[in-house]
Amino acid sequence: MSEPDKTIHCSKHGQRVATFVCHHLAHSANRGFNIGINPEYADDPFPDAWCDECEQKFEEAGGEWNDEAEEFADIRLICCDCYVAARLRNQEEELRRRFTTTSLQDIVASHKEAPRTFSIPRSDERVNLPPGQLVKLVFEIAETEPGLPGAERMWVEVKERRADGNYVGELHNQPYFISNVGEGTEVIFGPEHVAALYVKKDDGPWLDESLEVSCSEKIISDDLWPCLAERASGSPTHTGWRIYASDMNETLVSIPAQQVLDQFPVLDSVLGEDVGSSWKWDEAELEYKRTT
Ligand SMILES: [Zn+2]
Ligand SMILES: [Zn+2]
Repeated sequence: MSEPDKTIHCSKHGQRVATFVCHHLAHSANRGFNIGINPEYADDPFPDAWCDECEQKFEEAGGEWNDEAEEFADIRLICCDCYVAARLRNQEEELRRRFTTTSLQDIVASHKEAPRTFSIPRSDERVNLPPGQLVKLVFEIAETEPGLPGAERMWVEVKERRADGNYVGELHNQPYFISNVGEGTEVIFGPEHVAALYVKKDDGPWLDESLEVSCSEKIISDDLWPCLAERASGSPTHTGWRIYASDMNETLVSIPAQQVLDQFPVLDSVLGEDVGSSWKWDEAELEYKRTT
């Protein structure tokens, strides 16, 4: 029934891939979740699905959808995000902690593939993590299933930095899907696995993103890459940041920090830094380096 290229406009999620489920799955919980793989679309991540009662009607009809079974199922077209939610609602206990993780995502490699949209902490921070720092790591799920995520993102506390440059950490979250690690599990990871740093307000680099920055018109209007950033003392409404595309004579305009962060997410790797610091984009390393 479902075709991978069919889409639907969902009032909740927008334009999405369309999938078919029985009306029980679409609207209720804890009804079981059965999928029908169409051999023509064997890789379909969102195969047609129905509940246990519908499965019983289907079996009674000799493994086919006769009129009675179809009427009972009353198939609905829903979006793929609603499908995942329906699966979790109806199969929660079965899915919970049923998968294993055997690897951490190499965030540096992922960032290289999409340096413009994908932001990671700077390397000088990732190689010098102090004990107690919470970092976000991405635990890849070894054999995920159609309609389920490929990884879980969780917080790990740094315990010590080893001589080889890797860290010993302790998992702070209880995973939802993964069974072979849990809260308190020791995790060995490298600087390349750190996807985010946990920063509390008034405790390390933190920025109120509703305050203004001065940003070159060339960056805002012409979408030029922000190569230079320096922080002077600010005011109650201004962070003190001045951000340029290539030279410090460019005309600046004041905009909320959030606006330039939406346009260039990688700026969040420096905008929490101190007054007096200045930064230059390093095209080879794909990150900002401190110049003063
Ligand atoms: Zn059903
Ligand atoms: Zn939806």
